[in-house]
Amino acid sequence: MNNKKTVIVTGASKGIGADIAIHFAEKGYNVVINYNSSAQSALLLQRSLAQNGYSVIAHKANVTNKLEVELMIKETIYQFGSVDVFVNNAGIAYEGLLNETEDYDIDNVINVNLKGVINCCRAVLPHMINNKSGKIINISSIWGISGASCESVYSASKAGVIGLTKALAKEAGPSGITVNCIAPGMIDTQMNASLTVEEVNEFTSKLPISRIGTTSEIADTVLFLASDSANYITGQTIAVDGGLTI
Ligand code: NAP
Repeated sequence: MNNKKTVIVTGASKGIGADIAIHFAEKGYNVVINYNSSAQSALLLQRSLAQNGYSVIAHKANVTNKLEVELMIKETIYQFGSVDVFVNNAGIAYEGLLNETEDYDIDNVINVNLKGVINCCRAVLPHMINNKSGKIINISSIWGISGASCESVYSASKAGVIGLTKALAKEAGPSGITVNCIAPGMIDTQMNASLTVEEVNEFTSKLPISRIGTTSEIADTVLFLASDSANYITGQTIAVDGGLTI
């Protein structure tokens, strides 16, 4: 155990989550890299950060599985003594006409993107309430604000995360806990790997800041919300989207 602050980042095996984990490690936090299926990339990231002297562990837990999430939080507290910041980043994309979307896909998107966040909040809250402090940061999406055609279920799951953020901010505020949300625009990760260069260019040409965003730009905003500079901010959703939602 050490006297550093501790953060758990869900879905930190790659993409935005991996960069959030790196940013927190560089800020001196104990970092828990949560992953589900990408063990190899999660363990590679953990090893490379540990080799550079950072305090980092990797922990497998499917956010849809309440018991696995509870175990992750128990083990984090055992290892590091507390959970000061919890970043709900894990998520999956789904595209398709609503009428052609199978029940299985609807359940899967809602279970990972919304119920997964609920599972994690429920599991970490008793500890944060006991500490009378904590910061929960949820990763939604601009589509949770404005809705995307052919991404109705994804948009609904991400709108749910924004609603949850506001409600939980009210509920947990008196216990010294802030709950905030980030709505990224199009960010350069594997989630967008299926888009063609033309599709990306068409999307970015409509933005005031005419380019795709970087994982680092999301991670910097997460760090801000986790910092003392954001102590009086709660229940908010910050769009980091190049101006798309203006
Ligand atoms: P990504 O590269 O596809 O990474 C997704 C991460 O989520 C992976 O680490 C994955 O872990 C994890 N994950 C998925 N299902 C999980 C589960 N059941 N339990 C635990 N972890 C799980 O995606 P990304 O682009 O970095 O997206 C990160 C977040 O930002 C998501 O919530 C996404 O909706 C949101 N977002 C992304 C964009 C964008 O343009 N990229 C825009 C708006 C919002 P494993 O591989 O180990 O399973």
